[in-house]
Amino acid sequence: MTAETAQAGGAETRGFQAEVKQLLHLMIHSLYSNREIFLRELVSNASDAADKLRFEAIGNPALLEQDTALAIRVACDPEAGTVSVSDNGIGMSRDDVVQQLGTIARSGTAEFLSSLSGDQQQDARLIGQFGVGFYSAFIVAHRVEVYTRRAGLPADQGVHWVSDGEGEFTVSGIERPERGTTVVLHLRDDAKEFAEDLRGRTLIRKYSDHIAFPVLMPPAAPAEGDDAPAEEAVNTARALWTRPRTEIQDDEYLEFYKHIAHDFEDPLIWSHNRVEGKREYTSLLYLPARPPFDLWNRDAPRGVKLYVQRVFIMDDAEQFLPLYLRFIRGVVDSGDLSLNVSRELLQQDANVDAMRSALTKRALDMLSKLAKNEPEKYQQFWDGFGRVLKEGPAEDPDNRDKIAGLLRFATTATDTETETAEQSLADYIGRKPADQDQIYYITADSFAAAKSSPHLEVFRKKGIEVLLLSDPIDEWLMGHLGEYDGVPLRDVRRGKLAFDGESAKEDAEAPAPGEHDALLERIRTHFGERLAEVRATDRLTESAACLALGEYDMGEQMRKIMAATGQPLPDSKPVLEINPGHALVSRLAAETDEQRFGDLAEVLFDQAQLADGRQLADPAAFVQRLNRLLLDLGA
Ligand code: ADP
Repeated sequence: MTAETAQAGGAETRGFQAEVKQLLHLMIHSLYSNREIFLRELVSNASDAADKLRFEAIGNPALLEQDTALAIRVACDPEAGTVSVSDNGIGMSRDDVVQQLGTIARSGTAEFLSSLSGDQQQDARLIGQFGVGFYSAFIVAHRVEVYTRRAGLPADQGVHWVSDGEGEFTVSGIERPERGTTVVLHLRDDAKEFAEDLRGRTLIRKYSDHIAFPVLMPPAAPAEGDDAPAEEAVNTARALWTRPRTEIQDDEYLEFYKHIAHDFEDPLIWSHNRVEGKREYTSLLYLPARPPFDLWNRDAPRGVKLYVQRVFIMDDAEQFLPLYLRFIRGVVDSGDLSLNVSRELLQQDANVDAMRSALTKRALDMLSKLAKNEPEKYQQFWDGFGRVLKEGPAEDPDNRDKIAGLLRFATTATDTETETAEQSLADYIGRKPADQDQIYYITADSFAAAKSSPHLEVFRKKGIEVLLLSDPIDEWLMGHLGEYDGVPLRDVRRGKLAFDGESAKEDAEAPAPGEHDALLERIRTHFGERLAEVRATDRLTESAACLALGEYDMGEQMRKIMAATGQPLPDSKPVLEINPGHALVSRLAAETDEQRFGDLAEVLFDQAQLADGRQLADPAAFVQRLNRLLLDLGA
């Protein structure tokens, strides 16, 4: 070590962050059968580093020094049993190295890691979704060395990092004239095959052909003579999205996706488009197969990779797609934006707004196409991301109808024990009789509660289909949708039901008006101000009582959401509907003892609340009343 390098910082050994140790351990174990992906990950990082340098050099050309031809070099050395990946990209400072190669910065990582099961196949998939990046080197290497220097720092500010992946790493300052990073893998005995030149070449063609920088290797067969090239490009080295669609193989699209999305799994579908004319841009959007572990984390990175005239500008540009499409990954390359564009500027740019609405339509069209052509894949998408898409009608009213067509629901028409949300609103409309002029739905806390709700009794009897909604945001969603294809959506709990004009058969048992007035009046007197109304039901056939909502009352799901977020609840009273045909209601009508009449009426009311998933204001009183009635029975 020279005096200068000692100045740059002596050797220092540090422990990995606990999450890194855990990830390394799990990864080596579960990705063993996929281990060749390490090369793709390292080349992908090298390409990102070159992108970043090119971006920073827009404002500071001196960073390029004399070395302007950005490239990635891969060298295999079978004798030493090593493979190395070098780039002349942005490089890392000592602080960068300690931070980037010693910790994982994503929030929620610890929870994610502890959720892994120990099942090799399943964990491999999950870890793949998490993205393993640099650490994948340890799947094949027993020791990894990194030599790097941050662009713009002097040669004596180079850094050497070494680790055996067991829990610690050592960093020290070195002299490094060349900018950028070299990663050297000392291969494990059972992974020496990766030190073969041909193996490396094949893997790069397979996984990294789309990388926009040349990936250089020594020529396969050294040519004779003085002008024989010292190295040759192994890949096509053209940004994939700039090539015509017809010339790109599916495999290339798939590999490119893995590079930009850090995902191991194939996407479900993609859409590649070039727009020319007033605005010029190219977009390549992908739909991932599975949600990332931090889909519900508000701060999780989202958005597309932004390029301007092929120069990488930023990751996670959020301005190009709405929040409810945050699962879409991809690249946008604009011909119109300035190379100096920043996140702040993107927010005010009219070009960006126009691109955002066009990309939103593209993404929705891509989903429609998948739904139409590959319903099984669409179902997979829906199961993973449906709840995110449900945010759409509220966030983006302009596209409400398009989004509504993409929603899927469980319904009473598919008689399943467990929830299968796979019916579209168009399916419902296609099945309903021509004279039924509403789409009926019920919301509840769970699928089981929705399915067995007393509110569905009359619908079953009349053979009318009802959507079964049990997602906490469904009531809110339905409020924003309002209708589909001109047919209003109707909560079965709301108002008085009117089946007139619908194909439902006349109901011979329906009570004649006025027949139960005396009983209803007695119940009203008992409850007084606590209820908005008491009336004979047209909803129930088997149950004794249920609660109905006023036309504009807030439903139970919304009340729960408001209560959970500490907002004041609007004061609305329920309507109690009783079924005069029910034996308990006949008992009630015949009851002369006022105390027993009161107990029975209260129990009916509380039962109706329970069936609606509400909480009783005074559960102990309910139990006491019920017990009094049960004891009377025995007497
Ligand atoms: P990711 O690439 O998903 O961020 P990695 O674990 O692969 O995760 O890398 C962690 C970080 O290390 C990167 O974000 C980057 O900052 C840094 N890094 C890795 N490889 C290189 C490289 N070749 N040049 C510069 N920085 C790198």
